[in-house]
Amino acid sequence: MKNRALYMNGKLNLAFKELDIPKPQHGEVLLKIGYCGVCGSDVHFYESGCIGTTPIKGDLILGHEAAGTVEAVGEGVTNVKVGDRVVLEPGIGCGHCEYCKSGRYNLCPDMQFISCPPYQGAMRNYITHPAHLVYPLPENVSTLEGALIEPLCVGMHAANLGGVKLGDTVVILGAGCIGLTTLAACKAMSASKIIVTDLFQNRLDKALEMGADYAINGREEDTLARVMELTGGMGAHIVFETAGNRVTAAQTESLTRRGGTIVIVGNVMGDTPMNFYKIAHKELVIKTVHRYRNVFPLAIQAISDGKIDIEKIASDCFDFDNGIAAFEKSLCEKQAVVKAILKME
Ligand SMILES: [Zn+2]
Ligand SMILES: [Zn+2]
Repeated sequence: MKNRALYMNGKLNLAFKELDIPKPQHGEVLLKIGYCGVCGSDVHFYESGCIGTTPIKGDLILGHEAAGTVEAVGEGVTNVKVGDRVVLEPGIGCGHCEYCKSGRYNLCPDMQFISCPPYQGAMRNYITHPAHLVYPLPENVSTLEGALIEPLCVGMHAANLGGVKLGDTVVILGAGCIGLTTLAACKAMSASKIIVTDLFQNRLDKALEMGADYAINGREEDTLARVMELTGGMGAHIVFETAGNRVTAAQTESLTRRGGTIVIVGNVMGDTPMNFYKIAHKELVIKTVHRYRNVFPLAIQAISDGKIDIEKIASDCFDFDNGIAAFEKSLCEKQAVVKAILKME
């Protein structure tokens, strides 16, 4: 048994190294990783070598979208057993702050999120993880699908916060990975009309394939005019910004109908000009999303029940040996690669 890990050491520098296989402590499990997704944040760390503006020091194992098999359990573990296929939830809250105690653990100031420095990630053969953050996969949910659950949870949390329901018209700005998982979540939660916008046709085609009712290519059409046309001049009930872009973020107020809700899902960097006079006049609600909370079981159930076909977002699969190529392709062909995924064994 070997424990190879894909490390990042500074900007655009990835290499493999061998580690000892860790022993699960009390309340932990040892997992053999089957698949691990390459997240936008992993690619960002690889591209910039920084977190914010601070260079990442030392070796960092990337990856937090992981599923695999339980190889061993520590003392006191009762929720899973050796041989179970599972997905891991990557954020480990402190468990005793007011956020953790009230169930809003994604806001824990002491969150240990694997692959986010200084916490090591899951692009390795073996990892230990708290058993309470590991969920068994039903027989009809593959390990590959398991590795796609983490990005799906971002979309599900966004749809939950937006309060999506039957009858709602929804606009999703951006058809990258998170735009598509938000679409899948809105669809599963019975949104009546889903409009997706992007600048790249291949992404819009994927959105249509995943159940979007309308796709708007912002290069060819005026997004606002088309949304108004599709909503009888009213605008959408809920508008999700998933592109992480100041231009689309600033558009949200015009696209949302009176009394509607804006959900900012993408990481919109820098100052965004928002017109609060217009926003107040329409009495819009603005919600923001930081990762997710309490949605892993729901996401697993939705896939198992056939309400979400999450495998469709996996656009590029690489053997672990070719992990560096997965990063290069994710970086150089950003618009073509929706989600690269590493097959670890
Ligand atoms: Zn991720
Ligand atoms: Zn906490």
